[in-house]
Amino acid sequence: MRHIIDLTPDELIEYLKGINQPRYRADQIYKGLYVKNWDSFEDFSTLPKSLRAELAGQFYLRRFTLIDAIKSPVDNTTKYLWQLGDGSRIESVTIYEGKRVTFCISSQVGCPLDCKFCATGKMGLLRNLSVAEIVEQVLQMKARAERPPTNIVFMGMGEPLLNYDTVIRAADILSHPEGLCFNRKKITISTSGIAKNIRRMADEGLPYSLAVSLNAVTQNMREKIMPIARKYPLDELLDAVRYYTKKTRRRVTFEYVLMKGLNDSEADAHSLVKLTAGIPCKINVIPCNSDDPLYAPPEDDVLIRFDQIINKKNRTITIRSRKGWDIRAACGQLYADNERKKRIHVEMLE
Ligand code: SAH
Ligand code: SF4
Repeated sequence: MRHIIDLTPDELIEYLKGINQPRYRADQIYKGLYVKNWDSFEDFSTLPKSLRAELAGQFYLRRFTLIDAIKSPVDNTTKYLWQLGDGSRIESVTIYEGKRVTFCISSQVGCPLDCKFCATGKMGLLRNLSVAEIVEQVLQMKARAERPPTNIVFMGMGEPLLNYDTVIRAADILSHPEGLCFNRKKITISTSGIAKNIRRMADEGLPYSLAVSLNAVTQNMREKIMPIARKYPLDELLDAVRYYTKKTRRRVTFEYVLMKGLNDSEADAHSLVKLTAGIPCKINVIPCNSDDPLYAPPEDDVLIRFDQIINKKNRTITIRSRKGWDIRAACGQLYADNERKKRIHVEMLE
């Protein structure tokens, strides 16, 4: 049985044709799925009862079981742990910041890239998520959130650009004008630096926002903390980002996780300014969230100094707060216990 969200609009129309239903039923189904956010075919009151029963017999509408939802008493950040149809587990996080409501969603079960400072990397990759599994995160979170999302970021588990087609199809559904109609620029795809697919995003003229996790200013340090840097070296990555900004005329966000004694020196801050010169960008500095003393956050004065150096050069810098820290929902802290059956390697995904 398929998940109804996995059907393309054409497939849905084709299916309806096959059971002698008029085409407008597809619009009614679409509205029920995304505008009404109905979670049972029985609720689809715009459809005849017989069609509701037919759909329920043919398709899944919800496949997640909520295993745990932890809400931070400090800032209301809520972390959800879902069990998927095949028993694997992923996490998603809702973050409230003033008027902003950010849904941080996963693109894979685990991640194959093994960045040393990241909890998800320790899981390895079990599998890619499907379109429906990406979209269902948003629908399930929306049903539980205090307010609707203003931003959706692919910054949960996984490397979205290693599940490229699926992530883009899911983003297309989330922004579809007849459905959730989410502002495309407010959907951000964050990558650890899959240069090849950054170029692909540019070539395809995709309207989504791009964030690049730079995290180090030398090839040497980048390789140490992010093994993917061996495959896509810093120069190649920055070339791809330049290509992207030129071609799309859009700004990118560079994310830089600050780790005590590794990449937080004043010289690093100056290099960061130099490396990103000429690239329309925003720099987002994130103090590392980790229990591992090797990847500790910097002292406050070091963080402030880092910020000042970048600010002085008139670069936009924001320091991301450690929202959700108390419930292990902050960046890099997502880890779901999954049986480690088989690890999938990068080459298989490209
Ligand atoms: N795989 C993608 C998206 C998920 S990670 C990527 O790497 O960009 C989302 C963000 O969390 C990335 O910018 C990553 O550098 C950051 N991150 C990972 N581990 C972290 C940690 N321990 N502390 C703070 N940020 C972390
Ligand atoms: Fe994967 Fe991103 Fe974590 Fe690296 S930081 S292991 S790419 S999720």
